[in-house]
Formats: sequence, structure tokens, C-alpha cells
Amino acid sequence: MKKTQDQAEVLTGDSGQRALLEKTLEHALTFLASLDSRSVAATASRDELLKRLDLPLAEKGESPGKIIDELVAGADAGLNASTGGRFFAWVIGGNLPAALAADWLNTAWDQNGALHATSPALGVIEEICGRWLKQLLDIPDHASFALVTGCQMSHATCLAAARNKVLADHGWDVESAGMAGAPQLQVLGSRSCHGSVERAIRLLGIGRDNLVALDADADGRLSAEALEQGLANTAGAPAIVVLQAGEINTGIYDPFEALIEIAHRHNAWVHVDGAFGLWAAASERYRHLMRGCEKADSWSTDGHKWLNVPFDCGYAFVAHPEHHRRAMSHRASYLVHDEKARDPMDYNPEWSRRGRAVSTYAALRELGRSGVARIVDNCCMHAHTLVTGIGKLDGAELLREPVINQGLVRFPDPRPDATEEDHAHRTDRVIALINATGEAFFSGSTWQGKRCMRISVCSWQTSEIDVRRSIAATRSAIATAG
Ligand SMILES: *Cc1c(COP(=O)(O)O)cnc(C)c1O
Repeated sequence: MKKTQDQAEVLTGDSGQRALLEKTLEHALTFLASLDSRSVAATASRDELLKRLDLPLAEKGESPGKIIDELVAGADAGLNASTGGRFFAWVIGGNLPAALAADWLNTAWDQNGALHATSPALGVIEEICGRWLKQLLDIPDHASFALVTGCQMSHATCLAAARNKVLADHGWDVESAGMAGAPQLQVLGSRSCHGSVERAIRLLGIGRDNLVALDADADGRLSAEALEQGLANTAGAPAIVVLQAGEINTGIYDPFEALIEIAHRHNAWVHVDGAFGLWAAASERYRHLMRGCEKADSWSTDGHKWLNVPFDCGYAFVAHPEHHRRAMSHRASYLVHDEKARDPMDYNPEWSRRGRAVSTYAALRELGRSGVARIVDNCCMHAHTLVTGIGKLDGAELLREPVINQGLVRFPDPRPDATEEDHAHRTDRVIALINATGEAFFSGSTWQGKRCMRISVCSWQTSEIDVRRSIAATRSAIATAG
């Protein structure tokens, strides 16, 4: 039966599909070309966005071309230019050209990455990515891996493998028996551990009360004494130690060599949160920070931060593949497993899933080892110039020079009797004023009781000009603050 004109328009035949994708390409190019000149911060309020986008759910469908045009018109002013060169808030990477292009293709292919059988090509691409990433990040060859949505789910995956192993060591099969009645399992980490670790522990039924926050030195590094004491306090009970490669505020690295030796002497599993910091392994200049890290039992990192692939993309690596697999695998009679091939769902928590290896594969080929190192080195250099440049401005204070690509400044209240609260208030006010200039975008944090502005440089796009513009925007925001 021939399609009616109406259906052809809605469902898009050949020419409709081409016109639609070409129109979409134009919109995408317009957005990318605007990154240098548009406001880095979204300019539309929530109410304005709702007014443009919140239509009543339609009874009848509409033409895709009209939807795309209206989507762009409605969303544009609500977009942060986080993929450009002057976005330094949180820890957010950009989008490499080959990674973006490959991700588009991936969407057109629309493969399900659950099994080798659901997409042989994806299965193979993912296998290759796992191997390349291990080589690049100095992770042992024999480690198993998973591509997940981000470091949060990577923690959940790695800590599920850890839970399986440390409880099995105590005669408990957690996959069958669950956590109720299991030997008490504790997770030890520095006080400055990222919140995603706590969330993973809750998801796994370990519970927040079993997360032991240990003392760190002034810089935030977990101390050997604190770890030794913390593990002695567990009196031989199952334990997982979480170490940091790149602490969220300062970018510091735990002293892996010494701490992993202590943890392993106590039969604890060592998991490393290296959401962005693990990428230091790719750089000659920063690799030394990772010394000893390869002896850990699992590692989490992100693709969507420092590798600059599109959201969402994280990686999990586990040095004990059999425990990784026991924690994740599922066999059902209708699934087709390949004898030789790797089935992704044996290692990641999702069932149906996006083929997110495609953009990783493209990014790693676009960059090569030297390109990844160049991104790391450039971001660290720009972070240093930006943090120290802002720190030197009248009305600013340098709190923490970057170890890698993260650093801290604040904007103290100049009044002689100003309190910590006044300093915090003024710091937040200056951040808001910088963001309102549209020239650069930063976010706040609290470090050692001080409100501060955290500066994170993760984008391949950030240039010297971006750094200069951002320092100038900060200078004028300080002046506006009075
Ligand atoms: C970003 C980040 C996370 C969480 O990663 P997601 O990719 O957002 O899930 C965990 N730890 C650190 C240190 C981070 O910077």
C-alpha cells in the first residue's frame, strides 16, 4: 500500500530523510560556529524555556523538520557552551570532531550493544577500545573492562566486583545470598572522596554507615598512618579501599605505591577513582603521579571528561575478571552467546545499551597516544595560567595551584572585619557576575571550610586566547562587585 502524502511527510521517505538530516547538520554547524561568540552560560530562564518548549502533548504527530527547527529555536538560549573553550565549571569535557561524527553514525546505526550477537561490529569495536585504553592508561593487560555511562556507574560496576571478591574471601556468595546477614563490609577512603563513591555504595546495599572517612594530609592525600589504622580497626573484616587519582578540588593523587601495599597486606581490595586524573598516565610529564597505581584491583575513569568524547561515556577496569563477570553476567535461554566473542553485558550493568565504544574508538584514532598526551599537557598548562592569573588579580586570592588541570581561587570580602561567611558570599557573587558576562563559566566549591571557585580545564578547545578572555572577564566581574 502506498503511503499517503501525510505519512510520507511524517515518516520521511528518502528525500525527506536527507532534507531532515541536512537541516540538522546546518543547525549543528551553526551551534558549533557560535561557540566562540555566544554567551558561555545559558541566557534563558527556566520560565522562558518552558514557554518555548512546553507544548501540550499533541494528539497528532508533526513533521520532523518543523520539530527540529522548533527544538533548536526553543532550546538554543538554554544551552551552556560547555563544549567550547571557556567553560571551566564542574569537570566537563568537549567533543572531538571524529568522536562527534562517529556518535552521529552510531545513532543512525542504532545498534544494541548488549551482546556480540546484537551487533558484531560494536562487540569488536568495544573489545579494541578496551585494549587501547588499558595500554594508554597503564592498566594491566589481563584486566577486564566495561563501557558504562560515566564514572558513577563505573564505581558501581567495579565495587560490585570488589564486593563479590572480598565477601567470597570470607565464604560468602553475595550474588546468591545478598547483603543481609553477610559479614560486615567496610569501604575506606579519604574524607574528600567524590560523592559518587557514596552513591555506588548505597546502590550496592553496603550502606553509607559502612563508608569510613579517613584523615588526609593538608593537601587531601590519604596518609599511610590513617589507612593502616583504619584497616586495623576493621579487625580482618572484608574491606575495600578507595584511592583517588585526581581529587575533585585540587587534582592531587594518593601515594599509590605505599597505600596499595598496606591495603593488600590487609587483604583489602583497592579501587581507584580516576574520573579525570587517570589520564595523567598518557602524559610523559604527569605520568609520575600515577606511580604504583597499576597495582590496584579496579579503576574508574571517564571518556566524556578528558578524552573529549560526547556524553555519556565512562570506563571500568577490573584486575580480577572472574569476579567482575560473576558480579555482572546473566544467562537467559533466549540470549545468543558467542563462544569466542566478548559479550559486553557480562561486564556492564545495563542490558540493552548504546554503542558508546564507537565515539571512543574514533577519538583514540583521531588523537593517537601523542594527541591524548597533548590534550592533557595543554589543559594542565592552561589551568596553571588561568588559576595563577586570576590569583594575581586585585580582589582575588589563590588557594590552590593546580597539580594537573584543577585549581582553586576565591574572592575575599575586602572589609577588614569580614567573616568567613562574607568571603563565601562575595566569592559566590563574583562567580555569578563572571558567568553573567557570558565570557566564561565557573562553578563554586568548598575546600577546607572555604568557599572557592574551582577551575577545571578539560576541553581540547581551550586556547591561550580563551584563558586571556576568561581572566579579563574575571577582572571586570571583580570590579563590578565593587
Ligand atoms: C566527575 C567525577 C565523578 C563522577 O563521574 P560521572 O562521569 O559524572 O558519573 C567521580 N569522581 C570524580 C573525581 C569526578 O570528577
